[in-house]
Amino acid sequence: MRLHEEIRELCGQKDAVILAHNYQIPAVQDAADFVGDSLELARKAQNTDARMIVFAGVDFMAETAKLLNPQKKVLLAAKGAYCRMANMLLPEKLAGAKKKHPDASVVLYVNSSAECKALADCCCTSANAEKIVNAMPSDTVLFGPDKNLAVFVSKRANKKILPVPADGFCYVHKFIFLKDVLQAKRLHPNALFIAHPECNPDVQEIADAIGSTSQMLKIAQQSDAKEFIIGTERDMVYRLQKDLPDKKFYPACSTAVCRSMKKTSLVEVHSALKNETFEVKLGEGIIEKARKPIEKMLSIT
Ligand code: SF4
Repeated sequence: MRLHEEIRELCGQKDAVILAHNYQIPAVQDAADFVGDSLELARKAQNTDARMIVFAGVDFMAETAKLLNPQKKVLLAAKGAYCRMANMLLPEKLAGAKKKHPDASVVLYVNSSAECKALADCCCTSANAEKIVNAMPSDTVLFGPDKNLAVFVSKRANKKILPVPADGFCYVHKFIFLKDVLQAKRLHPNALFIAHPECNPDVQEIADAIGSTSQMLKIAQQSDAKEFIIGTERDMVYRLQKDLPDKKFYPACSTAVCRSMKKTSLVEVHSALKNETFEVKLGEGIIEKARKPIEKMLSIT
């Protein structure tokens, strides 16, 4: 039996659901029950009736699923699949910034550890960051860990944004350079360019639209354009092409690859399901504190 079919059979036997991020390899996206961005996956995790959640993504996503479902078994499909950007913010650093700016609200990107989330007022994703920041009661907002997303939000929200840490970044988006996009535009002169808000400001400036991965799908769906250059992780193109086969999608940079997302193959998903390995474990105290900012985000959006 093919691995894909065995995985689907195991899901049925074990009452499990597979949630996969848009940056997963095509075979994993095809084997999943649901594919989406961080916000969509958090909502799915909140609403699932399944006994077990297998997360094909990175650590903070599986942690978020656990925070929303403390009574369920949540597995991270691949060991060591961690988000480098999330690891750039340490709880001590955030606690220090809070002490220095006691009147500021704290908004954290979901790409952060549960320990950091426990210190936040609200979480956000790249799809809702502006809305969340504007909903905060303070004039100043501590925002982390992605500096480019902080700059994107500061241009749109009427709040003072203080990035924490000062220079957090996603290497996948930071290394999509202006020259890559200009080259893609030369190759595909009729294509619209959609950038992710984690891209550098100079790349965002030449974009026809900026949005999270879920927003990229909506923008492409609603646009009359037939071709798009996509400024995010390379495998997002697979998701877009699958959903919109009549349009054409090109990666802005063919080397924009998240190595942690690529740790998951069908073998890892199968093994996690079969052996119930890499279970997410969080202390009760952290679960209680870190769940609140996620629930607040979900209630605002
Ligand atoms: S693409 Fe960037 S932000 Fe997303 S998981 Fe990979 S390192 Fe983290």
